[in-house]
Amino acid sequence: MRIASNRICDIERFAYSELQEVYSADEIRNLLKIIFEEYLGWDLTTWLLSKQKTINQSDLLKINFAIKDLKRHRPIQHIIGKADFCGMTLRVDENVLIPRPETEGLVGLAKDRCPSPKRILDLCTGSGCIALALAKVFPNAEITAMDISEKALEVAQQNAWNQKVTINFLQADILSDDLAELPMFDAIVSNPPYVREQEKAEMQPNVLDYEPHLALFVPNDDPLLFYRRIAEIAHKHLVTNGLLIVEINENLGEETAGLLRAKGFETSLHNDFKGRTRFAVGRRG
Ligand code: GLN
Repeated sequence: MRIASNRICDIERFAYSELQEVYSADEIRNLLKIIFEEYLGWDLTTWLLSKQKTINQSDLLKINFAIKDLKRHRPIQHIIGKADFCGMTLRVDENVLIPRPETEGLVGLAKDRCPSPKRILDLCTGSGCIALALAKVFPNAEITAMDISEKALEVAQQNAWNQKVTINFLQADILSDDLAELPMFDAIVSNPPYVREQEKAEMQPNVLDYEPHLALFVPNDDPLLFYRRIAEIAHKHLVTNGLLIVEINENLGEETAGLLRAKGFETSLHNDFKGRTRFAVGRRG
C-alpha cells in the first residue's frame, strides 16, 4: 500500500492500515506522535490542528520509511536514534540495550539508600543510562562505568558528553578480566544480562531481532554467572557498609538474593513499578 497524498490525515490512515497487525490503535497513535514530533517538530496540539495540512516530499519519505521500519518491528528508539531515561534523552543504537523504564527504579534505590557516595562503579553500562542518571543525582561522586563492548562505550561516551557529565569509561570483560586494579567504591550498580535462553520464546521480535543479544542473554544452565562475578568484585571493592544494587531476572529473585547472602551481603529484594521482583540490594558487612 502507498500513502494516498502528502496530507496528514492520509498519512495517518496509511499508518493505521500498515501497522494494525503489529500494534494496538493506542500504540500507533503514540508512535505517530513521536514521528511527527521528530520529523516535523510538531507537538500533539499542532498535529491535531493540522490534519488537512500537507508536508513536503522529503518529510513524507522519512515518515514513510519510519512506518515501514515499524512494520518490521524495528524499535521506534532505533528509528529516531534516541530514548528517554530519568528525564534525559539518550542516544541509542543497535549496540546498546534500549533503556527500560523499569531500570529507573535502580536509580531510585541508589538515590534513597546511598548517603552521598564518593565513588560509584557501574558494571555493564551499555548506553550509560544508569551511570549518567547517577551522575545527575550525585554531582559530587566520581563515577566509573565499564562495558565489554567498545561500540557500546562509544555511545555511552557520547551520551555523557551530551549530558555534560564526567564519567570514567573502562573497556573490560568482567567475566574474564582481572579487575584487581580497581579502587574501592561506596556503591556498585549493574544491570547485567539476565534473560535465560529458554525465555526467548516469550520475547517480542522488536527485542529479539534488533537489540544486542550480548546485553540480554545468559545460558539456561548458569543464569547467574554475571551476578556471581559482580558479587565477587563487590566483595573486594566495596567499602564496609557499601551497597551493591543490581537489576535482576524477576523469576530468579530468591536465587540471586541467596548468591549475594552466601558472599556475606545483607540482602533485600525490591519490585519494579509493575510489581515484579526486579532489584536486589546487598550491603557489604
Ligand atoms: N529487562 C530486559 C528485557 O526484558 C533485559 C535486561 C537485561 O538482560 N539486563 O528485555
